[in-house]
Amino acid sequence: MEKVASAVLFPCKYATTGCSLTLHHTEKPEHEDVCEYRPYSCPCPGASCKWQGSLEAVMSHLMHAHKSITTLQGEDIVFLATDINLPGAVDWVMMQSCFGHHFMLVLEKQEKYEGHQQFFAIVLLIGTRKQAENFAYRLELNGNRRRLTWEATPRSIHDGVAAAIMNSDCLVFDTAIAHLFADNGNLGINVTISTCCP
Ligand SMILES: [Zn+2]
Ligand SMILES: [Zn+2]
Repeated sequence: MEKVASAVLFPCKYATTGCSLTLHHTEKPEHEDVCEYRPYSCPCPGASCKWQGSLEAVMSHLMHAHKSITTLQGEDIVFLATDINLPGAVDWVMMQSCFGHHFMLVLEKQEKYEGHQQFFAIVLLIGTRKQAENFAYRLELNGNRRRLTWEATPRSIHDGVAAAIMNSDCLVFDTAIAHLFADNGNLGINVTISTCCP
């Protein structure tokens, strides 16, 4: 009896939105977490916005529900985070538009380990994981005879900010380093996006 049951395959939870996979029940949850047909959640950091929808609807959601997020055009811009000394967990978010795509820049200050505040900076593509592989980004802090650089492939918003921060797959620095580069409590991060070989 057990053998028969284990051979049964179930359709993915997102079959109605286009996924054609059938899976063993033990593989189903793992796949559904990363399924490309899973609806997109609002990419804004923090859990306050519960919006979900298609990839095509993400930008109009951001423009209507998160009007305060500014957008800069171009592949090479400065992401200016003001008042980085604000206490507690804080997020700074802005959009960068280039190569016909929108990228979300996030700087998050949080206490991942008790009593140790850190900054996490990352670039996400408003797009699929596959599209994200066509790009690279560079984050750079420039100060007096000092430079801190991070280069990586942008994350898809399908993965989200939280997963990247959890794995420290982003530019990570502590408050002492932030102060080396900040000017009057404001931190300018140079962001450069480039395309890489297809
Ligand atoms: Zn699926
Ligand atoms: Zn939202």
